[in-house]
Amino acid sequence: MTNLNWIALSIGGFLFFIGLEYVISRRTGKNYFQFAESIANLNIGVAERLLDIFVTGLFYFFFDYIYRNFALWHFEPKWYTWFLLFLATDFVWYWYHRLAHEVNILWAAHVVHHQSEDFNYTVSARITVFQAAARSLFWAVLPLAGFPPAMITSLLLVHGLYPFFIHTQTIGKLGILEYFMVTPSHHRVHHSSNEAYLDKNYGDVLIIWDKMFGTFTPERDEEPCVYGLTKPLKSHSFLWQQFHFMLELLTAFRRAVSWKARWKVVFGKPDDIDPEIRGQLEEVWLRKTKVRKQTKFQRIYIIIQTIISISLLFVATLLEAYIPVGLNVFIVLFILISLVNTGAILEQKKWFFYLEYARMMLIAVTFLIYFPHLYVFASVLLFAGLLTFYFSRIEKSLHRLLFQRTR
Ligand SMILES: [Zn+2]
Ligand SMILES: [Zn+2]
Repeated sequence: MTNLNWIALSIGGFLFFIGLEYVISRRTGKNYFQFAESIANLNIGVAERLLDIFVTGLFYFFFDYIYRNFALWHFEPKWYTWFLLFLATDFVWYWYHRLAHEVNILWAAHVVHHQSEDFNYTVSARITVFQAAARSLFWAVLPLAGFPPAMITSLLLVHGLYPFFIHTQTIGKLGILEYFMVTPSHHRVHHSSNEAYLDKNYGDVLIIWDKMFGTFTPERDEEPCVYGLTKPLKSHSFLWQQFHFMLELLTAFRRAVSWKARWKVVFGKPDDIDPEIRGQLEEVWLRKTKVRKQTKFQRIYIIIQTIISISLLFVATLLEAYIPVGLNVFIVLFILISLVNTGAILEQKKWFFYLEYARMMLIAVTFLIYFPHLYVFASVLLFAGLLTFYFSRIEKSLHRLLFQRTR
């Protein structure tokens, strides 16, 4: 097995640091982790990593196409071109990130990164595949300038790891590094919704761009960070987190009366979108159920689901080259249903059991296709039959166990 994708191991590293931060925060008596927030953050990250397996290759071809046809120069990989590429990447990142906050259509993808009211390593997982795609479009200027795609993808790998480490409250100020690096302290400011901290510190590795373009602000003791959106989302629904702002834009676009107004909806600033729209959409799409206290069973159920999703993601990444396309479709579907399902349970939605049923049937079909054996066929038939026959009974007991209520 030489074709293993070792990037999968980074998932383990990621979990290790989250665990470490959790232990430290508990020991120091600080509560940096809320259960539902952490699960929601991890789930968003699982979806991005999963879909990214398929998208990364596409972008390599895209960069390669630009490089071969339109490159202005052709840089050889020398130490100074590596350094130049690092500077260029960080500079492009600054502008991508700044515009992601200033332009509605880009904010629609980036907003997801800022929804969490916690600030810890799990927040760094809050990236969506839309955001990854938008970012890659900005990076298309790198092959255009003349950096070979192989150099770019290697650098992006390292560059992509760095921001993980700045999403933490356990590290204070870092002395001399504060002058030129983006530190946890700088990034805490970026994730805050305090008036004084809004739209600041966009940098990824170097803070110099913020200082150059007037968006830098240091973290101050007298102004403790309040994390999250200025108008908190108050929902852990997997789909709502990803699509609420796109729907808000769509609604604003429909209501706009002139082309100038429509242009402003797409390319204008997020502040100019009518704040009433969110509430109106929530009425239609969310129908808030009265959330009861989380039962212990609910937590265990959610934790098991999350462990299964992350483990499957690990396997799908590691064995990327060996898993047949068809099976991959099943794995992706299974994980996506699990993510929506977990969000629905966190929100205590009654309809979650229909997803649960769909997920079980998906497993049954996968077994039938990939293990065509008489015993498998008989067991699957029995399993599916029992599940269907006792549907409402199982549903009722799950509702009781998870939400302490019957239908
Ligand atoms: Zn941001
Ligand atoms: Zn961040």
